[in-house]
Amino acid sequence: MTLSKQQVLEWLLRCAEVFTRERDVLTQLDTEIGDGDHGLNMSRGFNKVVEKLPAVADQDIGTILKNTGMTLLSSVGGASGPLFGTFFIRAAQAANAKQSLDLAELQQVIQEGVAGVAMRGKAEPGDKTLCDVWWPVLESLGQSVQQQRGLPQALQQAAVRAEQAALATIPMQARKGRASYLGERSIGHQDPGATSVMLMMKTLAAVAEK
Ligand code: ADP
Ligand code: MG
Ligand code: MG
Repeated sequence: MTLSKQQVLEWLLRCAEVFTRERDVLTQLDTEIGDGDHGLNMSRGFNKVVEKLPAVADQDIGTILKNTGMTLLSSVGGASGPLFGTFFIRAAQAANAKQSLDLAELQQVIQEGVAGVAMRGKAEPGDKTLCDVWWPVLESLGQSVQQQRGLPQALQQAAVRAEQAALATIPMQARKGRASYLGERSIGHQDPGATSVMLMMKTLAAVAEK
């Protein structure tokens, strides 16, 4: 079982829908511990990505992901533009020339992307950032590769882990980004960026089920 290029395109389209729908929820989370622009950043970014998809839709997955990253980088400001942009640009390198991805390949693609984000943002585990969802997702996918789970089941499991991980950011104290300025007052709120990664993983799992 593989994730087809068509499913990757479908994923990006649905991400734009999800971030449009969840814009106010994400903005509310970012109002509590940041500057209240995260929902706008993500919805604007992914809607720009969708606008530009037709121009690359007949290319390989690597090209599509690279284009996605460049668009996010150039259309989203703040912390999340460079972080999500870097994720897709680095992930693209592992998807070079691919028309589909099996589970091990998809795990590799996400691993590359997360490595790029971690290098760029220098977050450590427990810093209350989007990496606190990416790392458990990667661990879950790695276990699924080892246990030779099917791709849809693996993504379903990873999405469940992502939901748990997003909730687990609530008791954390932020040590990176704007939320870190709040010190202990950042405790008790769910991290907006972590929530966005969770939404992306839930969307990917839904696309892979079809
Ligand atoms: P800004 O904080 O510039 O307004 P956003 O509100 O769009 O940008 O994004 C905030 C999110 O970015 C946070 O919720 C957090 O998950 C993530 N973030 C901020 N700094 C870092 C970092 N150094 N490493 C990883 N993620 C980070
Ligand atoms: Mg913000
Ligand atoms: Mg901002």
